[in-house]
Amino acid sequence: MGADQAWLPDVPPPPAPSESAEGPAREVRRETVPRLKPIDRQQMVLRPVVVEALIAEDHPARAIWDFVGRLDLRRYREQVRSVEGSAGRPAFDPHLLVSLWVYSYSRGVSSARAIERLCEYDPAYQWLTGLEGISGHTLSDFRVAHADALHELFVQVLALLSAEGLVTLERVMQDGTKVRACAASKRFRRTPRIEAMLAQARAVVETLEAQTEDESSLQQQRARERAAREKRQRLEAALQEFDKLEAAHSTVDRVSTTDPEARIMKQADGGSAPNYNVQISTDAAHSLIVGIEVTQAGSDYQQLTPAMDRLEQTGPRAPAQVVVDGGYISSANILAMATRGIDLIGPEPQSHAAEANRRKSYQHYGVTPAYEASMFRYDPATNTYVCPQGRPLRYDAKYERGGTMSYRYKAAEDDCRTCPAKALCCPRTRRGRSIERREPVPEIAAFRQKMQTDDARAIYRTRSPVAEFPNLWIKAKLGVRQFRVRGVPNVGLESLWAALTYDIQQWIRLRWRPRVAARATA
Ligand code: SF4
Repeated sequence: MGADQAWLPDVPPPPAPSESAEGPAREVRRETVPRLKPIDRQQMVLRPVVVEALIAEDHPARAIWDFVGRLDLRRYREQVRSVEGSAGRPAFDPHLLVSLWVYSYSRGVSSARAIERLCEYDPAYQWLTGLEGISGHTLSDFRVAHADALHELFVQVLALLSAEGLVTLERVMQDGTKVRACAASKRFRRTPRIEAMLAQARAVVETLEAQTEDESSLQQQRARERAAREKRQRLEAALQEFDKLEAAHSTVDRVSTTDPEARIMKQADGGSAPNYNVQISTDAAHSLIVGIEVTQAGSDYQQLTPAMDRLEQTGPRAPAQVVVDGGYISSANILAMATRGIDLIGPEPQSHAAEANRRKSYQHYGVTPAYEASMFRYDPATNTYVCPQGRPLRYDAKYERGGTMSYRYKAAEDDCRTCPAKALCCPRTRRGRSIERREPVPEIAAFRQKMQTDDARAIYRTRSPVAEFPNLWIKAKLGVRQFRVRGVPNVGLESLWAALTYDIQQWIRLRWRPRVAARATA
């Protein structure tokens, strides 16, 4: 034992393998080489595939195929250029293309290229296509090329859902949600900058078009020319957008050079970003979307009447009742819904703004608190007000503004001119003091009265879960947090695809799955 090992305890060394009873057996196992299946990636295999058996009987792809098969796709088929008896490849059936897009959105896939790849290996996509490959270009064009046909398809879907008792239009929730545009905040520019960029882009296009083919390959040359032309077109569109904004007296002073129709909007988290405002009408019976539209408006104020117009056009009738949040409540909307005979449910109009305006007005005219209108006493017997100095203010005129009826009462000029309190009551007017008695018009008064009842308040409390469910579903499940296309028309079509998908998914949950389960049990 060496000096450095002197501290070790006196432990006997382990027995040699031959000395142990189990020693020889362990030695045999160590020498054994496991026999494993080799992986041969060089082999060629031809395997039979039963396409029908690629997915289960209750797979949602079958439900979507069935549902789309019940729709009249004539509008799409009329636009197919390939015809029987003529040369050229047959076109893809609109039944397949619509089903592919609906199925893809339902899986949260909104990229045409991703669908092209999925068609190569995903069993559900293979079942839908019958193992046929389909290009991303074909899918991408189909998504935005048939606006009228898609709108008509949505109307047909609503009719089918109505026929199955899923849409009643008895109560509709109206809500708006901001969806990110396909544009970056830093690409928003003012007119002079865009004009400078456009001049550069035009120069680049001219230079590329003047180049001879020898300087680079023809294919690369064409790609560069196309990219330069597209950039020039986008910049020209941005300048045109400024013209539209000016004509609409808008205060917007910057426009995106990638999506000129997108707008910087405030978001729920307090920040702001390039967005579109997606207006969704949801039938409360089964939370199905019955109307959808994309707007550039940052607020919901002016979106209620157009939403009701759309429902009247696409549905059998206008809804009996519409439930909205405070963003839609205004005198104009209350009066408009009353005129249409639609029962409006929403929060009572806030009086903070009116009170703030009143205070500002008193300050402007130099009226001290002791001489504000509330300090004047009304005498119903003579229909006059009596001022704090005991002088009468007689009825003068009435007028209506913003859903409020105002009755004006005036003091005699001589009374005020000789009044010792004039400096405190009406220092900036040479005529006599006047005050107004304001009363809401009957429709506004009725709305306020209704919204103080328990029934109306209970209905209003159901708004948030029903109205916000499809918004969240479209963003979280269908993945439409940001649009993949640009411009109001295309963004509107992508929203419509999302609404169509959402409704079909709810139909699968409410009707198709119970039927399949009942068949399986039987
Ligand atoms: S200024 Fe005219 S209204 Fe005002 S307290 Fe005097 S008399 Fe009355």
